[in-house]
Amino acid sequence: MSKPVVYLRSECFLNIIFGAIDTGKKECLGVLFGREDKRSGSKLVIENVCEIQSVCKRTNCASHHSRASADRINKLIECAPEAFPFLGYFHSHPQWSSKERHYPGLSEGDFDALKRSNAKLEIIVDIGRASGSCPWMVRQNGAIVGRLANWRFALHAYNITGDTWQKLKLKVDPGVFLKLRKPTEK
Ligand SMILES: [Zn+2]
Repeated sequence: MSKPVVYLRSECFLNIIFGAIDTGKKECLGVLFGREDKRSGSKLVIENVCEIQSVCKRTNCASHHSRASADRINKLIECAPEAFPFLGYFHSHPQWSSKERHYPGLSEGDFDALKRSNAKLEIIVDIGRASGSCPWMVRQNGAIVGRLANWRFALHAYNITGDTWQKLKLKVDPGVFLKLRKPTEK
């Protein structure tokens, strides 16, 4: 099967950025909801994202979701799959200095967690201090990168294929990038 392309609705993209900024040097963690569209090529369409509030966050450390909260969310997904069509998870990798640098990309722990879950994908957002300009764009490799205020971002999507993982291409309406410009830059 060809690699699925991941379509991220503008609001979902903005919510992921918001989540990563909110928790700053600590990881944010959330759930991706949406659907698989197999009609014209394979697509994963992310239609909603929800940040998980009951997460144990520590600076420079992976966030942990309590078993009780995970059980409640799984029950919700099971009972109302039309309202909460589970696709996967997102979390941030804060990267602020060489001392506080989180592993970029999918870590071994992330890979293990993804293998154990029934997630179809995982989005990881790297967030760090910006230096120089970095206009918002979708790179050729499918990563979404850009700068907002003094933060820089890189969003990557992954899924599991057999015994390994692969990077998936992200897509978002480029119109949302124009909204991220400062009013003085318009
Ligand atoms: Zn991670």
